[in-house]
Amino acid sequence: VGNFKVEVLMLLNLKEGILYGPVQSRRYGPSLGINLMPNRSKLCSFNCVYCHFGLTRRCTREVGRFAAELPTADAVVKAVDTALQSSVPFNLVTFSGNGEPTLHPQFPEMVEAIVKLRNQRRPQVKVALLSNSTGLYLEAVRRVLPKLDLPVLKLDAGRESTFNAMNRPARDIEFSQIIENLKQCGNIIVQTVFVDGPVSNVVPGPLEAYFKQIAAIKPREVHLYSIDRPVPETHLLRVPPSQLQEIAADGTRITGVPMKAFAA
Ligand code: SF4
Repeated sequence: VGNFKVEVLMLLNLKEGILYGPVQSRRYGPSLGINLMPNRSKLCSFNCVYCHFGLTRRCTREVGRFAAELPTADAVVKAVDTALQSSVPFNLVTFSGNGEPTLHPQFPEMVEAIVKLRNQRRPQVKVALLSNSTGLYLEAVRRVLPKLDLPVLKLDAGRESTFNAMNRPARDIEFSQIIENLKQCGNIIVQTVFVDGPVSNVVPGPLEAYFKQIAAIKPREVHLYSIDRPVPETHLLRVPPSQLQEIAADGTRITGVPMKAFAA
């Protein structure tokens, strides 16, 4: 399979309400999604070139001024409790949704409450987080991560220039700070999206820098993906599964951290 140009222009729909799915996770099966960001509108601290929701029109880490659009912790916990007590089958509940979940001011409290409910109602269900790592500057967010079964944190770049080109962060976000915060977290899963074309993190320099950062962060494991659906920057190229496998094998050998490639 060679590289191909993404030509279809349909994006994923933004989520409606607090819960969505269950959606099929490539690795863990049915996952009930929790959206802590606004209804049908993206609020994120990144504007990733490959984001399957399209461009981030409200790109910020300060979500306080959008508080009226965010669900309350009470509403989120009640919704998850109802789902846990229902007969709907799912293996995971995942904090994800229309942007960055850790930006919600009550994210740590919600994690604590939902983990407790999970323990009571369905102890076999795992609690996961998909985060872009920008909320880790808050100590309360870092402190609550060990309570999650699957704390999955994004890192797409090993150096600032690649980071700025790939993730196009909100103004106050610094790459070096994210790396330091990831290092402090320890037992996390890093998730990386690789793309090629005018923006690329698979060419030798950026890839080498990325391996160095992974070796320093020492996550539990690293999950590698490429794009598998339309994205806003239509000139982006998918990294084919065979190349992703090679990167995973090289990365595991060089960093000593298990890297796994997931192809669509
Ligand atoms: S962090 Fe996630 S939601 Fe935010 S722009 Fe990137 S891919 Fe989209």
